Amino acid sequence: MPDFFKSWLYYLSPKRCAICREVLSFREVLCSDCEGKLHQMDKNICKRCGHVKKQCECKNYAYHFRGFTAPFVNEGLAQEGIYGFKFLRNRDAADFFATEIAKRVKDIFPDVEFDVVCAIPMYRLKRSVSGFDHAEILATEVARAMNLPYRRLLKKQKNCRPQHTLTAKERFENVKGVYTARKNAYENVLLIDDIKTTGATLDECARRLMLAGTENVYCAAAVISTCKDKDGKL
Ligand SMILES: [Zn+2]
Ligand SMILES: [Zn+2]
Repeated sequence: MPDFFKSWLYYLSPKRCAICREVLSFREVLCSDCEGKLHQMDKNICKRCGHVKKQCECKNYAYHFRGFTAPFVNEGLAQEGIYGFKFLRNRDAADFFATEIAKRVKDIFPDVEFDVVCAIPMYRLKRSVSGFDHAEILATEVARAMNLPYRRLLKKQKNCRPQHTLTAKERFENVKGVYTARKNAYENVLLIDDIKTTGATLDECARRLMLAGTENVYCAAAVISTCKDKDGKL
């Protein structure tokens, strides 16, 4: 696109920071303030549950998925960015998080050849009321960034209690029998959600995909919730 046309577009609709919406120059994605404050997830993680090794949760849960990773910790600005995307429908935040997820997946699982990307599905009535399926939007952008096809492989058959109102044990019970998966023969599927807390939803969806024929399911999210040690460090 010619520069004068870019300038004209910029004048009509200036580029804004994906998180705080401050006006930016052409090439920036985040303002320098947000760039410095986002809490990146450590890359030295347990590749199964996605946590730093001393907080590995694989001893507590026998996850069905082969691996998980997220670029950011679910706190501060990253949490605000997810809120802006999910509830204020800020699409720039979706593009930003999807690009970061794609980079992180390539870093953590460099040898895995993914066949497709899919998303944790929303209950269809909820989707038709809201008209905004955030996990699908994120997964579609991840697929685009990784040059992979996006497929709707999962379906949420019924509504269940919101996971954030439940204890860890209840979360695993709450999602049992809620999802179904389309029959398939993929070797490596990348399953996307916005946030991983216990991983109960991702795990149940991974289990359903494997029952439907997928060999390996890898998961990724924009942010991961972690607990802090007594010094407040990760
Ligand atoms: Zn900003
Ligand atoms: Zn682990």
